[in-house]
Amino acid sequence: MSTAKLFYEDSYLKEAEAIVVKVDGEKVWLDKTIFFAFSGGQASDNGTINAQFIKDLQKEGNDIIHFIEKPEFKKGDKVLLVLDWGRRYNLMRLHSAAHIVYLVLRKIIGEKKLIGSNIHTDKARIDYNLEDSIGEHLPEAERKTNELIDAGLAIKTWEDQEKKGKFWWQLDIDEKEGSQEFGEKLPCGGTHPKNTKEIGHIRLKRKNLGAGKERVEITLSL
Ligand SMILES: [Zn+2]
Repeated sequence: MSTAKLFYEDSYLKEAEAIVVKVDGEKVWLDKTIFFAFSGGQASDNGTINAQFIKDLQKEGNDIIHFIEKPEFKKGDKVLLVLDWGRRYNLMRLHSAAHIVYLVLRKIIGEKKLIGSNIHTDKARIDYNLEDSIGEHLPEAERKTNELIDAGLAIKTWEDQEKKGKFWWQLDIDEKEGSQEFGEKLPCGGTHPKNTKEIGHIRLKRKNLGAGKERVEITLSL
């Protein structure tokens, strides 16, 4: 089986119809879905299938499994999918913001070891292995990130032609002079807005995790 993932073709899709492929207890498989399941640090979506709430979403191979308490539909049924769009849009904006902050900070502090990143609906975070405090660099990083956001750069996402299932993210820096150094493509299978302007403005905050670990927290300020 393989669930068609409509959010890769259109990350703004809020509703769709799908056919139920299999139901096993709380687990539901569909021929296609608009719901993103946790991966690459991006949190899962919320939403409903035929007005029944999705309590969890999980990736399994090429499938996305939808968890519903007592599904009231069966194999072969046509169902209506409705996405919690407000939550997803925040995730999309914060995810692209996190990539821009990463590119900007790399210019300022150099190649430092990235430990991980996470995108939640209220904030995103990037963790580094770093002995010194990252705090003093954050005002500059915040200013530069908001400058790139204000530039209204197109955000490109696409599937790798040679390696199916591998996706990329990139800022369209051709549109803006002075942004050339932030045009590197990054591997990413998340969902994103089409333009940096949609992000609004962001704020950065430092959190010291101890043991030479530094965290940068990103929140939307608009
Ligand atoms: Zn990403």
